[in-house]
Amino acid sequence: MKTQREDLPHVVILGGGFAGLSAARQLVKAPVRITLVDRHNHHLFQPLLYQVATATLSPSEIAAPLRGLLGPKGVAVVLADVTGVDTAGKRVLLSDGELKYDYLVIATGATHSYFGNDHWAPFAPGLKSIEDAVEIRRRVLLAYEMAERETDPSIRRALLNFVIIGAGPTGVEMAGSLAEISRSSLTGDFKNIDTRDARIILIEGLGKVLPVYPDDLAAQARRTLEKLGVEVRTGARVTNIDESGVYIGTEHIAARTVLWAAGVAASPVARSLGAPLDRAGRVNVTPELTVPGHEDVFVVGDLASLKQADGTPVPGLAPAAMQEGKHAAHNIVRRLRGQPMVPFKYWDRGSYAVIGRGHAVGIAFRRFKQSGFLAWSAWLFIHLMFLIGFRSKLAVMLDWAYSYLTFNKSARIITGPAPRLDQLRLPSSTTRGEQILLTDAEPSTHGAASSRGLAPPSSH
Ligand SMILES: Cc1cc2nc3c(=O)[nH]c(=O)nc-3n(C[C@H](O)[C@H](O)[C@H](O)COP(=O)(O)OP(=O)(O)OC[C@H]3O[C@@H](n4cnc5c(N)ncnc54)[C@H](O)[C@@H]3O)c2cc1C
Repeated sequence: MKTQREDLPHVVILGGGFAGLSAARQLVKAPVRITLVDRHNHHLFQPLLYQVATATLSPSEIAAPLRGLLGPKGVAVVLADVTGVDTAGKRVLLSDGELKYDYLVIATGATHSYFGNDHWAPFAPGLKSIEDAVEIRRRVLLAYEMAERETDPSIRRALLNFVIIGAGPTGVEMAGSLAEISRSSLTGDFKNIDTRDARIILIEGLGKVLPVYPDDLAAQARRTLEKLGVEVRTGARVTNIDESGVYIGTEHIAARTVLWAAGVAASPVARSLGAPLDRAGRVNVTPELTVPGHEDVFVVGDLASLKQADGTPVPGLAPAAMQEGKHAAHNIVRRLRGQPMVPFKYWDRGSYAVIGRGHAVGIAFRRFKQSGFLAWSAWLFIHLMFLIGFRSKLAVMLDWAYSYLTFNKSARIITGPAPRLDQLRLPSSTTRGEQILLTDAEPSTHGAASSRGLAPPSSH
């Protein structure tokens, strides 16, 4: 195990996501002392979260402990909640203490945004953390269990309605995967219901699915979703969500499972900097990725807002976060050597959205549009390459191969507090049974990112 010299400049990195981890890894050979702070003890591979939420992968396959990744390289890992930054005093404020820094890299990412309707959160969880994914998996699987025992047709209908709000990449991926569960993997598992009767309804406020993709790819994505049995509603603005379902103006869709994939907001840590923020609360960074007026404070990843030379924003994607983290580390080393910092340039290898088994749409290298199996293979390759640790790569590959060949959902276990069987069967005159189920796990406080920061929130 490498140890760190106390007399070296102290670099503190906030967040062990794609950006923070890549900054730390880039700095390990530099003459600095590194401390990485995260509220979770693991690095999470968010692009595969929907596979946990829809019971294809297990949480441990898409997360790796930060201590295991960084400890042997001599990086100090601190499990703590960052509450703010005091740039004048060069201090990071933690919920239970503080840390002094010489250089600071802030990479605390983004959370879900309910656009001022935070009271919707308990009824429509978003997908951002392992806890979110496990909770969504629990709700989806429990809905089928409850439908199996329900005798009232209207309640059974509501239990088999699954609504996803927001048709950015995350919403599209969730909808495709939920349709597959109902049409393939779960068929034959139940005696009283036909899981193929489930309705998967994808709602988007803007005029098309995948709003930031070119029209032809978006139209193709829609056709593929519809072929899978997803009902796509574009140009439909959700006006309310409660325990009974979703409202679009005066229309009410009765649904016991509603998922939120419609908006992102920057981590609140940004606000403590007193720096200029964009509409989503991200820090408007300099081309060198620093906070204007603070050359020792870098902001990277989903929390940073930066325009490329052609005026388009650097997208909120994992590769962009990794490149920014690495670049911030590079600029810190240049500062230490007394060299001027250099501006960041994003190398765009492409972005993809998966639509069910073996199908995706995407754009490679900013210009080559791809769809179908080819795009899915490119997505698979890129994502497996990013997976941290060989064991994960192998395990994920095997799980996918098994799932692909057999339609089996190997991770479809319900976790969390055991449901009381008397609550599973809902009385027909009330919705209280569901309310109990919905609230017996902590409502999610983490965020979802459907538009993946490619553009401002895609709908609503
Ligand atoms: C469901 C989903 C699917 C996605 N799919 C794709 C995809 O297919 N391809 C792609 O390229 N991108 C995808 N993205 C986007 C990609 O995951 C993000 O762009 C990327 O994670 C941003 O990296 P980051 O390091 O900035 O933030 P994150 O990876 O979000 O990391 C932030 C870290 O900061 C920690 N943190 C936050 N606040 C605090 C605090 N106050 N105190 C302490 N620690 C804190 C968090 O625990 C976390 O570890 C997806 C995102 C989501 C949510």
